[in-house]
Amino acid sequence: MGVQDEDTAPARTDFPVFCYEFEYAFSMQLRYNYRLDPWPQHRIAFGKAFGCARVVFNDALAARETAHQAGLPYLTDAELSTRLTAVKKSPERAWLTEVSAVVLQQALADLNAAYRNFFDSLTGSRKGPKMAKPRFRSRKDHRQAIRFTANARFKLLPNGRLRLPKIGDVPVRWSRPLPSEPSSVTIVKDSAGRYFASFVIETDAGTLPEATPAVGIDLGLRHFAVLSDGRKIAAPQFLRRAEKLLQRRQRDLSRKQEGSKNRDKARLKVARAHARVGDARRDFHHQLSTALIRDNQAVAVEDLAVRGLARTRLAKSVHDAGWSGFVNMLEYKARRYGREFCRIGRYTPTSQTCSLCGVKDGPKPLHVRTWQCDACGAWLDRDINAAVNVAKAAGLAVTACRARVRPSPCGMARREEAGTHPKSLPEAA
Ligand SMILES: [Zn+2]
Repeated sequence: MGVQDEDTAPARTDFPVFCYEFEYAFSMQLRYNYRLDPWPQHRIAFGKAFGCARVVFNDALAARETAHQAGLPYLTDAELSTRLTAVKKSPERAWLTEVSAVVLQQALADLNAAYRNFFDSLTGSRKGPKMAKPRFRSRKDHRQAIRFTANARFKLLPNGRLRLPKIGDVPVRWSRPLPSEPSSVTIVKDSAGRYFASFVIETDAGTLPEATPAVGIDLGLRHFAVLSDGRKIAAPQFLRRAEKLLQRRQRDLSRKQEGSKNRDKARLKVARAHARVGDARRDFHHQLSTALIRDNQAVAVEDLAVRGLARTRLAKSVHDAGWSGFVNMLEYKARRYGREFCRIGRYTPTSQTCSLCGVKDGPKPLHVRTWQCDACGAWLDRDINAAVNVAKAAGLAVTACRARVRPSPCGMARREEAGTHPKSLPEAA
């Protein structure tokens, strides 16, 4: 079936969000996301369901916190479930029966999963970044989500609508067909007020025809990615256009008076522009990662210290580039299609080593884009050299010839002559 499913992301069963920034755990589940066009009555029903799920989640969280503070034992998942059944019969929470029981049970399941992740990350039995303690949900959260599992009997109707219990038949924009029966669907409302249905599909790991090439990837800010075969990939026009629009919207917002109607309007426009940037970036990441996995048998990428960089003055650019989402896409697509995927430790000195002869000649300031290796005399392009080193560190057989540059006495080299690093000075031909 190929790799045409451009917007699939692995499902995180532990987190009900429309999200690509998942951690390192993978399953052979994929998410298929579609935009919804709910009618006004659907929006009202969704609003009610989001609210009820939030109340159930927060009540259960409060119950656990209270028990903890009182020194009582941890409330088990089963106890929370029993409490929920009881509380639905009480007059002050009777309105909980107006939404699907599955939605409420899934809200509890989310809380339980969040606690498990938190405990597991405390004991170190969970890979990836440390997880925070579950937090109370708010109606002001940018993302509202509810989940229907198969036993909620949601249904894909022949007329293309999605039937959700106690919500109705919601129109779906089917951008492509679902490959098989989904096991669950999460409904998400984002900060721009858009609704999405995110279906989870269980898949067998499909494989692509064998491909021989291997590629090393160096992610950067100057170019989004530089490949060991010498290709440099900049962020595409549509992404830059979306970013320009976002900047303009933000400027507009900052000029509006606090508390005014116009400010609210401008804020919504900012949220929409943000959503557009996010979509454009995701599209770009999907296209590039799909092409890389399709064309190469093995892919190596530097495990970036994104968290470290995010605290520096480069933070905004680092966040904008969205590297971690991209690397995760590469990883799950590689798994899915039987390709080799390697992450190279972030302490591998990829820019300090000559990719031709392997001699390490120390760090170079960022402005040095090309330099000459003392040992073998080759002129090296900083980014391509790094990409080749990434591939080599992963044990991939790639040729280093593209890392070589012809020193030019004009153009790029001129600017570097102003640098303080003597090695960056190309000798006049
Ligand atoms: Zn060398």
